Amino acid sequence: MTAQEIRRLFETEFDAVGVIRSSTYLNEARRLGKQIPDPVYPTLVVLGLSYERRLIKETKTHLVPSFYTFGRDYHGVLKARIDAVMADIRVPYEALVDNHPHDERLAAVLSGIGTMGKNQLIIHDRYGSYIFLALVWMDVILDQECILDVIGDCGTCRRCIDACPSDALFEGGYDINRCVSQYNQSKRALTSGEMDAHTALFGCDICQIVCPRNIGIESLKHPEFALSGKEKISIHDLFTLSNKAFAKRYEGMAYLWKGKTVLMRNALLTIRKKHLFEYDALIRASMKETMPDWYLKTAQYVLSDLKIDTPSLK
Ligand code: SF4
Ligand code: SF4
Repeated sequence: MTAQEIRRLFETEFDAVGVIRSSTYLNEARRLGKQIPDPVYPTLVVLGLSYERRLIKETKTHLVPSFYTFGRDYHGVLKARIDAVMADIRVPYEALVDNHPHDERLAAVLSGIGTMGKNQLIIHDRYGSYIFLALVWMDVILDQECILDVIGDCGTCRRCIDACPSDALFEGGYDINRCVSQYNQSKRALTSGEMDAHTALFGCDICQIVCPRNIGIESLKHPEFALSGKEKISIHDLFTLSNKAFAKRYEGMAYLWKGKTVLMRNALLTIRKKHLFEYDALIRASMKETMPDWYLKTAQYVLSDLKIDTPSLK
């Protein structure tokens, strides 16, 4: 099977397909000093599936996560599309979508899916940075690789660096520990500085929204990512439904993967930032439940902040 044949088959389900030898990726990863396991199979297919930019406004009653979570959970969507293609190819394979030890952005650059932006995201010529990535290791020996042509780079632009609310980006690098999207998915108490930089209920879209390379791009409507209404999360649901009932009501959404308590902790940050005093009783009630220490600390901090600002709560 040739790289071109593999590419054509995957193009029935994906918007960008690069096919390289696993050794190409392995050698570059090792040269860069990355600690990665040996690939299982000799061929690496790098896949991109675009998603739409859809901004939904928060209200006093409903909060909104990063828009990559809109529609069905992309992990399942990408895996299902890979399985559909591999059902025709019929060779041993391993599919990876997030949560793996490999550097999919490096693989995306090597296969020509896109260039690495200063916002640390892969930017595709036609779909900008709104593209999910997946890797497929395949038991096929390639005659030659199929690397896409890439155009464009950031040049002198630094809009994402200037707009980043937590100074996580800088010329030539990124401090992952400062990134809002990283720490608002973590299970720990946040510092007051981290709370101040808070942007969305889950994740952060700022460095994508400001990027000029995301202007005038193509926006494909994949049916799995159609809006379902679960993109807006009720604060009341968050604080009153059991974990099980909440997971049922918001079933299939990517923002569920870290659990409801992470979303509640992040909702507290919006409540603090927007001075939504009306949730005082719900927050207090949640603190009487069995909750992790990091949630209780955040709730305590937020309540104390609200009390300072609101005489009626004293
Ligand atoms: S996701 Fe948000 S916090 Fe993270 S680098 Fe981008 S703008 Fe900065
Ligand atoms: S905002 Fe500018 S610097 Fe940042 S990724 Fe986009 S083009 Fe590159």
